[in-house]
Amino acid sequence: MAIDLTDRILQPLPPAPRRVVKLHPLRRAVQVVLGVIIVVCPLLDIFRLDLRAARFWAIGHSYSAQHVILFFWSAAIFAILLFAVSLIYGRWWCGWACPQTLASDFGDSLNKRISHVLKVNVYPDRVGAATATWSVVMLVSSVVTAALLGSYFIAPAIVWDSLVHPTANPGVADGTYAFAALMAGNLLFVRRKFCANACPYGQFLSLAGDTKTMTVRYLDERDDDCINCGQCVTLCPMNIDIRDGANQIECIGCGECVDACNDVLPRMKKPVGGLIEYRYGTDPATITRTLPLAQRVGVWDVKRIFLCVVLLGLIVGFSFAAFIPTPTAMTVAPSGDYATVGGELVETYSVAIESGRPEDASAAIAVAGDSRVRVLLPIHPVMIAGKARTIVSVKLGSKSGSIPSGTRLPLTISASDGKIPGNLKGVAARIIYYVP
Ligand code: SF4
Ligand code: SF4
Repeated sequence: MAIDLTDRILQPLPPAPRRVVKLHPLRRAVQVVLGVIIVVCPLLDIFRLDLRAARFWAIGHSYSAQHVILFFWSAAIFAILLFAVSLIYGRWWCGWACPQTLASDFGDSLNKRISHVLKVNVYPDRVGAATATWSVVMLVSSVVTAALLGSYFIAPAIVWDSLVHPTANPGVADGTYAFAALMAGNLLFVRRKFCANACPYGQFLSLAGDTKTMTVRYLDERDDDCINCGQCVTLCPMNIDIRDGANQIECIGCGECVDACNDVLPRMKKPVGGLIEYRYGTDPATITRTLPLAQRVGVWDVKRIFLCVVLLGLIVGFSFAAFIPTPTAMTVAPSGDYATVGGELVETYSVAIESGRPEDASAAIAVAGDSRVRVLLPIHPVMIAGKARTIVSVKLGSKSGSIPSGTRLPLTISASDGKIPGNLKGVAARIIYYVP
């Protein structure tokens, strides 16, 4: 007997199952890597700006005050790069890399762990103990975070030391503890409210994003498959319902709802993957998925091309600035120490010589402008390290009574090396010599 196969042949093939990648562990891995980078950058001198020493550190090398501009140049490049990438990948920064999200995730997950350890769901009277423990850890984290961020602008050893010896560096200690108080307010009371209501980057991106920007989207076209389990809402750290529409200002693009739906639907024996996906723009999947990549991400869009040109210009400018040779320079700071020794008024100055030359040089310190003032120390030439900053303590003296009290003499301190021409020919700075 002949078998009629017509029905089977004309049946449409079931959609191929999508490969589902679990996003949560991936996001945690990215956050851990970025967290480690944030910690080691200032501690290992990989990237920091030392405001006190007016020096810029990059990958273990220190650059002089003339190169501090590189720090701001790097910041500009980072900002434009972030914006350019965000035009394509939407709020990836918010959900996957932003330190504020990192801190909020840390706070939430710590809260869950403490509640779990204390078995708060079994013993509700332990809620107070759980909250107190959580608050103490968050306060300690605030101080550590403040010190860490302070280390980007002041030598890390000074910042960390100021936490335990505040009187040794009162200014640094005050600043660090004030910043820690701000951080504590954020970690204890603000956290995600900042992302939803105050973050300028999120607000700006919600205006600048366009139809080709990647976003987390509920697939309205498959609305019939939704079983209304509510898992996507329960697991959303921002407490929103992605089914209300893509591009909600509170959505940080973390992808937790994507994982939630991908977990739920297969267990309900639904034929294809979850109903929430990362998508370029809001077009239905059938269109965005079949578009060539360049069109999907909008590479040929005027806005994107403009950003790329600006970025290229900044990178070229940065490269030139990084290779400009540093001129040798001197800065002088009076210590304010006055003493009378052996009938001579002695004043101390801190002379910083920034050598732009690769070789070391020995230089004699001299003072000019008034023959009544002479260099008492150093008597012999001092060694000026090549491509480095050398601090020399210089003592100037004048016979007591030879210059009337209250006089302000404009003088010039110089360091010169006559033996090695071209190495350190002469560098000088003006000072005012004051007679108290
Ligand atoms: S809606 Fe989804 S992607 Fe957006 S914040 Fe909530 S869980 Fe994250
Ligand atoms: S997790 Fe998926 S199935 Fe459940 S409510 Fe959200 S969209 Fe619907």
